Amino acid sequence: MVFQQSDSYYLKEINRLNSEIPDIPLEAVIKQDVLRLGVRFSKDSLCVASGYKPKDYFIFSFDLVTLEDLKQEGEYLLHAPEEVRFFGGDHDLKPTIFSVRLNPASPYLVEIHSGQLVLSCEGTILAEVDFHPVPEFYNSTLKSGKTISQIAPVLEWGYLVYLTVFRLCQYWGRDEECQFCDINENYRQQRKAGREYTGVKQIEDILEALGHIHEKDSVSKAITITGGSVTSRLTGKDEVDFYLQYARAIKETFQDRWIVKTVVEAFKQDDCRRLKEEGGVDIYHPNYEIWDERLFKILCPGKQRYVGWEEWMKRIVESAEVFGPQNVIPNFVAGVELSQPDGFKDIDDAVASTSQGLDYFMSRSILPRFTTWCLEPLAHLGKQDTPPLEYYVKLLKVWRDTMEKYQLPSPPGYGEPGLGKAVFSVSAFMDVIRH
Ligand code: SF4
Repeated sequence: MVFQQSDSYYLKEINRLNSEIPDIPLEAVIKQDVLRLGVRFSKDSLCVASGYKPKDYFIFSFDLVTLEDLKQEGEYLLHAPEEVRFFGGDHDLKPTIFSVRLNPASPYLVEIHSGQLVLSCEGTILAEVDFHPVPEFYNSTLKSGKTISQIAPVLEWGYLVYLTVFRLCQYWGRDEECQFCDINENYRQQRKAGREYTGVKQIEDILEALGHIHEKDSVSKAITITGGSVTSRLTGKDEVDFYLQYARAIKETFQDRWIVKTVVEAFKQDDCRRLKEEGGVDIYHPNYEIWDERLFKILCPGKQRYVGWEEWMKRIVESAEVFGPQNVIPNFVAGVELSQPDGFKDIDDAVASTSQGLDYFMSRSILPRFTTWCLEPLAHLGKQDTPPLEYYVKLLKVWRDTMEKYQLPSPPGYGEPGLGKAVFSVSAFMDVIRH
């Protein structure tokens, strides 16, 4: 029993899972719970802290309420940090980083207690916290007048420069957009709120921003180039050429200063070869979102229409011949298998389905990774219950057990693995790696 005298349902559940599945560390369990439920901040916690990097809304909203609702709740919430690191407390928790998903109704609260920033759950203090520091290069200005935080924001405690070069998706409307995704709605709400939010980023802005980062920063090690799908043309180019131009320009200018990753469609093998040979892309993320074929068709109707489940999975496997299997890291959105009305009703059925996909890829030395589903209110799936914590703890265990069964190395481009070291902030898969 970790949290002994708490009446909190959430802490009791953490206790139960910690005793039933003891080889998943407590820190990882807490992190998954905060990610699935979101977090809130007391007003003084955000007023007292300084020198931290606020949320840049780098692609999706990743909040459990709309910006409008946040504003109603209190303007100060619009300045919440990108990431929080918790550590210490009565259980001497190892430093663990989570991405901030705002939810004014969350049981998790960042507040000030005895002059210190802490994370609490329904009145029980769990740990001390600090916030993602603002990097020095964020103060540099670009010739276009745009800010670095909009053009080349950093995540994962500064490890990853995240370039959403196209902030919309040409999968359009309910019949095409992935049903859990709010990219197009988030773009609209950010613009409505008067924020600088560039739809298509200029290569010149990006190279200039990266020049500042190159000059002033030694923490960032990887770059992600991503954005929505391009089904027709964008600035006169198809999807491969559109994303390729950014990779090529970055590699030509900075060579191997950063590991370059692209999160794009599952391309045919010839196009993958172009990404690697012409663009110098190191890591390829053809995200399959969900393994179950029936649910893929329902939840990813655009991907189904333009590529199809079978072809998508086949292309992932074929891309490993181009990049090397260790450099193909497709993402899935953990928890959407349990979304209603079409998803699984039972946790174990959901984990079993997802684990089939893990085995399929890991047996081929391809290591899928996952983000934690955030129930964004403007996504088509809309308001519903978040998957139970038990699902996430069981998933972490099966993910790590399968990885160990096939003796796969830690994925490149994610920083150091392991408890107390991992920086990946939207799920705990890196925290639970043991080697
Ligand atoms: S492909 Fe799907 S998940 Fe990706 S941006 Fe488009 S709608 Fe969102």
